[in-house]
Amino acid sequence: MEIVLYPHPALRWKSKPVKEITAEVRGAARQMLDLMYEAKGVGLACNQVALPWRMFVINLTGKPEEKDEEHIFINPKIVRRRGTQEEEEGCLSFPKLYGQVRRASDIVVEAFDLDGHGFEMDLDELASRAVQHEVDHLDGVLFTDRMTEAGQREVATTLADFEALFRRQQELGTVPSDDAIREQLRKLEP
Ligand code: ZN
Repeated sequence: MEIVLYPHPALRWKSKPVKEITAEVRGAARQMLDLMYEAKGVGLACNQVALPWRMFVINLTGKPEEKDEEHIFINPKIVRRRGTQEEEEGCLSFPKLYGQVRRASDIVVEAFDLDGHGFEMDLDELASRAVQHEVDHLDGVLFTDRMTEAGQREVATTLADFEALFRRQQELGTVPSDDAIREQLRKLEP
């Protein structure tokens, strides 16, 4: 498992609900947390490791020893959004790229944990922002889509560089073609 970078097609995939919490799902969640810590992130969605499942992991402290702060969200749903906040965001699928993103300030999210228990969280500030960012990933929506027009103009060159690098890797055969990746994603759907 590895974190895929923009414009990998998994990042534009609309992921499917997890039907059963199998050993494979638990194992993936663990590996995603480890990858997230290694990459110094605070959240990681299945789409970012090329798995078409509606699941993401979060630890806002970014510290592996803070086990109580690890949260797995399976089949999450944001059931309420209130207010707005605008802050700088980044994403592990866009190394070193940052930009201002406007989001709801307060949300209520419902999801299931790895034991299959449903839970609800009332979130604000960073937690609210992180959950909105990760739920977007499951719908194939990226934080760059949500930047202001001025913000999008600012990152356009960097995005073009990411794109060029990815296409070069495909030409060299170190990364499969978009069609091959999509075929694989369809096979992995729950
Ligand atoms: Zn992200």
